[in-house]
Amino acid sequence: MPVSTDSLGFISNVLSRHTAERDHGALERALVDPEALTVLIAGDTPILRTGGESATAFLPASDLARLSVHEEQIFLGTRDRTPVIGTLAPAEAVELFTDDPAFRVVDLRSVAVQGLVSAEELGALAMAKSLLFWHQRHRFCPNCGAPTALSAAGFRRDCPSCKAQHFPRTDPVVIMLVTRGDKCLLGRQARFVAGSYSALAGFLEPGETIEDAVRREVFEEAGVRVGYVRYLASQPWPFPSSLMIGCHAEGLTGDIVRDEDELEDARWFSRDEVRSMLDRRHPEGLITPPPMAIANFLIRSFVEGA
Ligand SMILES: [Zn+2]
Repeated sequence: MPVSTDSLGFISNVLSRHTAERDHGALERALVDPEALTVLIAGDTPILRTGGESATAFLPASDLARLSVHEEQIFLGTRDRTPVIGTLAPAEAVELFTDDPAFRVVDLRSVAVQGLVSAEELGALAMAKSLLFWHQRHRFCPNCGAPTALSAAGFRRDCPSCKAQHFPRTDPVVIMLVTRGDKCLLGRQARFVAGSYSALAGFLEPGETIEDAVRREVFEEAGVRVGYVRYLASQPWPFPSSLMIGCHAEGLTGDIVRDEDELEDARWFSRDEVRSMLDRRHPEGLITPPPMAIANFLIRSFVEGA
């Protein structure tokens, strides 16, 4: 039985996606709709509304009244026919909400790990954060240098000078669990939490296939040669706008030659050992990434023999 992807963060989205090319007026209409909701990101921090035990990423648009300024607004889509806007505020705006018990100000990674909003709202938060980040970083035309303007309700930026159209980017990242017999290869970067080991990962390069990116990254980081590569699942990763492409890969060689700049450690772990890491009962306290991360899914798929 295949291992379920249900625990992965950012993979489902409550919003009906807007087909920007068909309806350029969607943003203008949403901005004057009194029922409209907004996803608010201050800097790169989501502002949530709390109610009892739960929180929501969808704020009534009237909550924006306390902002003296916002940097960008885009149309994200509709939730049950209600328009939803993405609003980017300056990072300092978090101070306007931090001490108000009606709001919760917490970084997106923690929102995902702690399950602070529903899985379907988490996908909408990821979409808003990645899109708003792109707008923030593409205010000038890469072709001619002139200031660009938001277009297509926020799904494009246009250059009024050279007429170039610019579309939001998604950066593909390969993440792969290399297996060899009963063992799998995990590494840790110095920035990981203590004892945490994960699947190797790296950005896909232009002109490269997924399979070749997997083989190149594994050899660069761990000196292990990879043969067969099998795609399993993908996950949007809004830090800031990646798509994680999860694969299992067949290790052809066993000796590890670690890239010391990339990895603090890399080892082969047996299926039993890695199971104890998933279950948080490893004798040395070693752990895997949490269930919301695709590395956890790749490791569980190996342990379950899928
Ligand atoms: Zn231009």
